[in-house]
Amino acid sequence: MKLGKGHALWAAAVMACICAWPAQAQVSSDIDALIKQAEAIKTSQPAKFYDVLERLEKRVEEATPEQRLKLRLLRAHGFLMKGKSEPAIRELRQIQQETKDPEMLFWTGSLLVNTYALTRKFEQGLTTLNEILPLATKVEKKDVRHRGLLVAGLLYNQVGEYALGQQYARQVLADTPEGRNQCAAGNLVAEAALGLKQAPSEEMIFRTIKFCEEQKEPILGGLTRTYLARKWVDDGKIDQAIELLERYLPTVTATGYPLVISEYHAMLASMYLKLGDMRTAQTHADEAVKRGMGMTSLPLVVAYKSLYEIANKQGHAEVALLRYQQYAEADKAYLNDVKTRQLAYQIVRQQILQKTQQISMLDQENQVLQLQRQVDQQAAQNTRLIVILLIVLVASIGYWAFKIKRVQLSLKKMAETDALTGICNRHHFTIRAERALAECARNGEQAALIMFDLDHFKNINDRFGHGTGDWALKEVSEASKGFCRRIDVIGRLGGEEFAILMYGCDLRAAARVAEDCRVRLAQIDTRDTGHVFAITGSFGVTSSMQSGYSLAKLLSHADKQLYRAKHQGRNRVCVYEPAHEHARDAGSNVLELPSREGRAEHHIGA
Ligand code: GH3
Ligand code: MG
Ligand code: MG
Repeated sequence: MKLGKGHALWAAAVMACICAWPAQAQVSSDIDALIKQAEAIKTSQPAKFYDVLERLEKRVEEATPEQRLKLRLLRAHGFLMKGKSEPAIRELRQIQQETKDPEMLFWTGSLLVNTYALTRKFEQGLTTLNEILPLATKVEKKDVRHRGLLVAGLLYNQVGEYALGQQYARQVLADTPEGRNQCAAGNLVAEAALGLKQAPSEEMIFRTIKFCEEQKEPILGGLTRTYLARKWVDDGKIDQAIELLERYLPTVTATGYPLVISEYHAMLASMYLKLGDMRTAQTHADEAVKRGMGMTSLPLVVAYKSLYEIANKQGHAEVALLRYQQYAEADKAYLNDVKTRQLAYQIVRQQILQKTQQISMLDQENQVLQLQRQVDQQAAQNTRLIVILLIVLVASIGYWAFKIKRVQLSLKKMAETDALTGICNRHHFTIRAERALAECARNGEQAALIMFDLDHFKNINDRFGHGTGDWALKEVSEASKGFCRRIDVIGRLGGEEFAILMYGCDLRAAARVAEDCRVRLAQIDTRDTGHVFAITGSFGVTSSMQSGYSLAKLLSHADKQLYRAKHQGRNRVCVYEPAHEHARDAGSNVLELPSREGRAEHHIGA
């Protein structure tokens, strides 16, 4: 450890007191036991400590991650005791990488800061400090928290930021610290007060000294007394100040710490000089130079200045010149050192500022991105909603289209079919029959038309009621359908009158079908109605060969035959023959009922 410079002494003193991780809870294994032992003896028995550390190193493989962290900490301590700050810093940095525990982070961070302070790496120290200070509130172990805050106070005082230094030290004092931390904190508060050109409170200084003495911290105690002496000098109480420093000079000398010893002598020299005691002043100034030689410190500056003034007053011009040069050099070096430290603070401050700005810029960018994302999400949600709406719309349109189609179909069916029998009504029969006839005409096929009317149907209604009449109509319809192929068209032309258009069928075939149908109707079993009666029909048949492909013509000719069948006694089939047409064309009226025998038309039936 390079202790040769300025405040390094203070840092070393703090280091000695903060290196130890606060007492362990329980010993759970050999390794734990060794760790505990190492922690207990590391300052008091260095040789044995290194021995235990070596034993621990051999068992590093068995160690738990937590134990390894503690081992690293011990290792760092070992390096620091040997003055090897670089490997110590490496170990501490490694711990920081490996742990997430805020307490451990804070603790090792504090050690790092202190090590940086000790090695005058103020920038790194301040940077690390800024990393760990936000963790302070998460640190439950009071002692750990206090030591970290003390390191902060120490570093800020070192870089001349006394207000900050005092703030952190006061934070510790306000939190009922343990004696050692009280001693250190009081010392920092007093140092900061002087740095801020404020008079430190004597009462606080006395209390600090008391704690330092109780804690056997002669260096810090000794240092605190210099602050008191300085205050007394400022207050004009030079005798009192001299008395204080003289009284404690032996104690301070016994510590062997050059900076404090040099400080005592330098202060005493300037005080004696003020009193005009050149000899004693000279002795102390020489001693201060001797002790502080090689250091860049204020005592050295003060001592050289005293020596210069003494030589000057004594009229030793040459000596005075030499002393002045030495004084100027020491002063310059000291001021440079101060500036270096202040600069480090400014640099880090600037870096932090930049970082903060960067962070706030990133934050803003983030916010923009987040807003963008929200907008995108909203848009996606809207699109989803629109898609859902469209689906619902399409589905309901489809549903309604389907429903409407069904209604349309049923309406169409209703419009096309005869409600009672379910076969084509007259209107639809006409359309379909005309279409079939046109097709037959196109294809050169024949077509035939059968018409029939139930006989004395009125009687059925009258005798058995309208319901039975309806039943008979349905039976007739069903029976007749049985004689039709899919391509044929059957319809109820009205009342009890039916017609069948037979596709691709000649007159003979149609006459046969009509005859079969007539027979079938006569066979209808009416017992289901509760009555027994006969259902018969009179049939008229014609075909395209005889009547052409005009439906009107076909209907007319078939109807004539039907009429003829009625007149001939009903329940029979009369077939149209062209001879009649010819005959009629020749002047005879075929529509007049011919005798059964003398008819030109065939008739089939009963
Ligand atoms: P013809 O042998 O000369 O044809 O005698 P008809 O009694 O069958 O003929 P008419 O024209 O005198 O009577 C037809 C009857 O058919 C009259 C009517 O009440 C009945 N009718 C018409 N439509 C329906 C119907 O839908 N249901 C019932 N039950 N009867 C009907
Ligand atoms: Mg009838
Ligand atoms: Mg009729």
